[in-house]
This record gives sequence, C-alpha cells and structure tokens, in this order.
Amino acid sequence: MDRTLIPIWEKVLAEERLSLEDGIRLFETRDFPAVGRMADHVKSRRDGDRVFFVLNRHLNPTNICVLSCTFCDFAMKKGDPDAYEMSMEEILGHVDPETREVHIVGGHHPDWPFEKYEEIVRTIHHHYPDVQIKAFTAAEIDYFHRRWKVTPEESLARLKEAGLRSMPGGGAEVFSSRVHKLLLPGKSDANRWSDIHHIAHNMGIRSNATLLYGHVETYEERVEHMIRLRELQDETGGFLAFIPLEYQVGDTHLVPRQASAIEDLKTIAAARLVLDNFPHIKSYWVMIGEETASVSLHFGASDMDGTIGKERIAHAAKAASPAGLARNRVVQLIREAQKIPVERDALYNVVHVYEN
Ligand code: SF4
Repeated sequence: MDRTLIPIWEKVLAEERLSLEDGIRLFETRDFPAVGRMADHVKSRRDGDRVFFVLNRHLNPTNICVLSCTFCDFAMKKGDPDAYEMSMEEILGHVDPETREVHIVGGHHPDWPFEKYEEIVRTIHHHYPDVQIKAFTAAEIDYFHRRWKVTPEESLARLKEAGLRSMPGGGAEVFSSRVHKLLLPGKSDANRWSDIHHIAHNMGIRSNATLLYGHVETYEERVEHMIRLRELQDETGGFLAFIPLEYQVGDTHLVPRQASAIEDLKTIAAARLVLDNFPHIKSYWVMIGEETASVSLHFGASDMDGTIGKERIAHAAKAASPAGLARNRVVQLIREAQKIPVERDALYNVVHVYEN
C-alpha cells in the first residue's frame, strides 16, 4: 500500500471520520486499488456481500427548460424540433405496474404551472398506488418557488399529499460557487439545494444526493461537496444514497474526453470512505457503463440503481449504455461480481434476496 494511505487505513479500521486532506489524498494516490480495498472493507462492514437494486422507470415529462446549463445536452427551448412535452397518457404509458419506483425529473418549463406537476404525481399515484414516486430535484422545487411563488414547504406538502414518497438527488451538480458560476448560472445554488433537502427531511421525505464529476471541478471541490453533504446528513439523517454522476461529454465538450473507469472507481471509493453516514453509495451504470458498474461493487458501491426503462438525460449526451436493463441482466451483473443481488423498493426495504 502507498505509505501515505496508512494513516487513512488506520482511521478506517478505527471507524474515525476522514478529513478534507484525507479525501484529496484518496484521489491523488496512484495506488487506487488500495483505495478500493479500503472502500470495500467499509461497504462489507455495512452490508456484507449484499448489493441492492430496484425495478424502476425513469420519466422525464418535458425537456423544455428556461435555463442553459453548459453541461446539459437534454434541455431544449420551446419550438426546437427536438423539444417535447408528454401528455398525461404518455406519462402513464411510461409507468409499469410491475415496477417499485418511478423517478421523475425534467426541464424548468416556462409555462407548466405548479398544478401540472401536482397533477402528474396525483394521476400516477391514483393509477398505480403501489408504485413509489420519487420526484423533482431541489432545483425544480426551487424553480416552482421562483416561477410560481409556491414555497418549498408548500410545494413539498402538496406533492406529498398527491403521492410523492421521496426526492432524487440531482440539481446541485457540484457545490463549489466557482463551478456554479461557470456551468449552471441561474440554477439553485448549494445553500438553496441544502435548505430544500433539509425541509424535505424534516417533513419525512427521504432523498438522495448526487455529484456531477469529470468536467472542470477539482479533486478538492469533489471532497468539499462530499463533506458538506456529510454535515447535512449529520443534522437530518434523511439521505438514503449518494450517487456520483459522470459528466457525459456529448455535444457540450467541457473537456475533451469522458472520465476514465479508474476515475469513476476512485470517485465511488472516496465517496464510500468520506460519506461515513450515508447508507448507500450508488453505482449509476447508465453513465459509467455496465462493466465499470460491476467492478465498482468491489470499490464501495452497494447499489446498482435499477432497470431504468427509457432514460433520456444521459442518452441525450450520447451515453453508450443501453437505455434500460432487464431485471435478469442486473442480477447477472451483481452475481458476476460475486455479490448477492437484493431487490429493494425506493426506500431500501428488501423485496427479494436472490440467493443462488
Ligand atoms: S441541467 Fe436541468 S436546469 Fe440545467 S439546462 Fe438541463 S434541464 Fe435545464
């Protein structure tokens, strides 16, 4: 092992919290297999060989957005030939009654009133009461306030009443104000994102958190992002999973090439080691590919997300992964990594353990 990692390994064994400097060291060392072994140790201490996944569907009701984040290939303006708005019939057609979770995110639409979003949640819940609805990033909840003057407290209460069960983790991308100015001017910032998750957790709405990496951010900014999430989790305990999202170069070309598999694995492993109070670190196969996702199960990941259905956001940026996976394929990927597949619901309740 790289000798500079030994003090970190001693902290890991003693279950002591890692510092910002420790986190940066995990990224800078050339001994990334050792980082992976440490993260696997932590993951195994929490969950043994179990790896979770969910039968889910991603639903992106519209790609029309008033913002123009520079990393985004998904958003379109009204009138663009590729802009779309789903009808309620199309939305319902995306929900499969066999699935446990529907994950809903979309553009900041200029004209759809808040009631439209409320109606989407209510209608899905009415037709499929057993499907758990995970909907709208903190950035969208903030937009409902800015555009329609519906406060986060009110929008979350109304959405919860309509059937919302949890929230996805996107929208903040990277907490750094430097990156925010460069990539997502006009979108809700780190403070607002954190406040909205705080409000949601206080209302009993669990959520996830993400990090968009592999573009202009530094290692220090990645670790600062994780530490800020760790502090928020200390206060509320409301986060279920952390999901590193690999930037897709697509047509936006913020950097010449996609992050490497080693960079993906280091980010997952560092997250498992730094985020000591997060139940799960998710390996998002849509962005890193099935093979890297399978290897990541030895680098601290305890969750493979799910079957997804028709994913549009990463695929608008030319993600090479398939649009969705069958349950058998997810089970196979987990088994190939010598782990035990555990089907879960949106809140990580165990649905089925795939013992041989
Ligand atoms: S990332 Fe979200 S808010 Fe930004 S342009 Fe794309 S759809 Fe709009």
